[in-house]
Amino acid sequence: MPTRPERYPANRLFVLLATAFALLFAFLVVVLAIDQERVRDLSESLQQQTVPKIIRFQRLARNVDQLRQEGERIFSSDTPEDRQQSLYLVMLIASHPSILEHSQAATAARDTESFLAETGRLAAQDPATLRIQYGEWQQLSRRLSLLVDDVLIEGANLATADLEGAAAAMRLTRYKLMGATALLGGFLLALMILLRRHLLRPLEKVDRALSSLSVDRPAPEFPDGSLAEIHAIEEATKHLHEAMVSHDAARRELQLLANRDDLTGLMNRRHFMESATTELRRAQRYGRSTVVALGDLDFFKSLNDTYGHGAGDTVLRTFAGLLTESLRQSDLVCRYGGEEFAFLFPESTVEQAHILVERFRARCAGHEIQLPDGLVVRVTLSIGLADASDCTIDLALQRADLALYEAKRMGRNRVVVATEAA
Ligand code: GH3
Ligand code: MG
Ligand code: MG
Repeated sequence: MPTRPERYPANRLFVLLATAFALLFAFLVVVLAIDQERVRDLSESLQQQTVPKIIRFQRLARNVDQLRQEGERIFSSDTPEDRQQSLYLVMLIASHPSILEHSQAATAARDTESFLAETGRLAAQDPATLRIQYGEWQQLSRRLSLLVDDVLIEGANLATADLEGAAAAMRLTRYKLMGATALLGGFLLALMILLRRHLLRPLEKVDRALSSLSVDRPAPEFPDGSLAEIHAIEEATKHLHEAMVSHDAARRELQLLANRDDLTGLMNRRHFMESATTELRRAQRYGRSTVVALGDLDFFKSLNDTYGHGAGDTVLRTFAGLLTESLRQSDLVCRYGGEEFAFLFPESTVEQAHILVERFRARCAGHEIQLPDGLVVRVTLSIGLADASDCTIDLALQRADLALYEAKRMGRNRVVVATEAA
């Protein structure tokens, strides 16, 4: 036995998906917010710590360089006053906080200051000392120049490390943002594919099936839907088709019952008159000739009286069978009254119809009818024929009735054609 596939109620599925989406969204928002916070902290630290540090290193480098320049000036000065002024500046710079807080710079500054102070003192006694001291000063000056470079590199390194840290954090945030966008996009895409496959396409199929639902077409087929509501709509559509088919069958049955004579199964008089009127109008519109006829069983009353009403019914049914067998598909015949039958022969001239009914009359006259009690009887038929090509159905039947009357008068079991004047 095939197992019934599991179906999900659309509403529950929607709640499930919406919850999953909300959780995913909230998770991504939190992750991104944390990252954002980190980037903000980093940029704050850049502003508040790194930048002032860099400035401090630059200031230190400038001061050390200034120290070196002032030292140089002591050696190039011509007067003791100029040397004194430069020495004073050297002392000021060497005690500057930016230099004191950097141990290497502080040591170098201290060495420079004491060397230059000593040089200044000696030069005041003998200016020739300057030349002697200059070689040592050059070494000290180089040391100061190297220190300037070191300080600048140290500052640059510090800035580079902090900037790289901030750039890495921003890069990570960017990747995370891209990942989050891709994840949400993927989720939405999957949602749309699911919606299309399990909701929109089945609905589209139901729509197509409903718009072409007809009793003349086979019942609609649907693949097994996975949503309970869609499955219910598909089942309802199938049931609707079944109901339409069975209602149509019932309608046809009722129509048949309403249009047929119970005893003989032939068309009844009302239905004959409707059909014959339509047929005659069409024939007259296209200029085609049409013939009507009225037939009446001969001495039927005495048959009823002699063999009983049941025998009469059997004869009527047998006659109906003979009529249906003998006539063309397009000919109309009905039980017009008790033992009377009416005919309409489309696309026939009076002569053609005459031959047809004459053959039929002869066939009936020679036909042995077996009654329910086993007896066999023969019943004859009188027929009146009239051209209906240029008059109404009522008038044509009236003329046929007169011809029938004439056939009875002339001795029955014959066909009489109505005269034009009749
Ligand atoms: P005629 O040759 O002049 O036509 O004579 P008739 O006896 O056939 O004519 P009449 O009209 O006098 O009799 C018709 C009879 O048909 C009367 C009625 O009892 C009988 N009849 C009408 N309908 C039915 C029916 O449904 N079943 C039976 N068994 N008889 C019917
Ligand atoms: Mg009669
Ligand atoms: Mg009769």
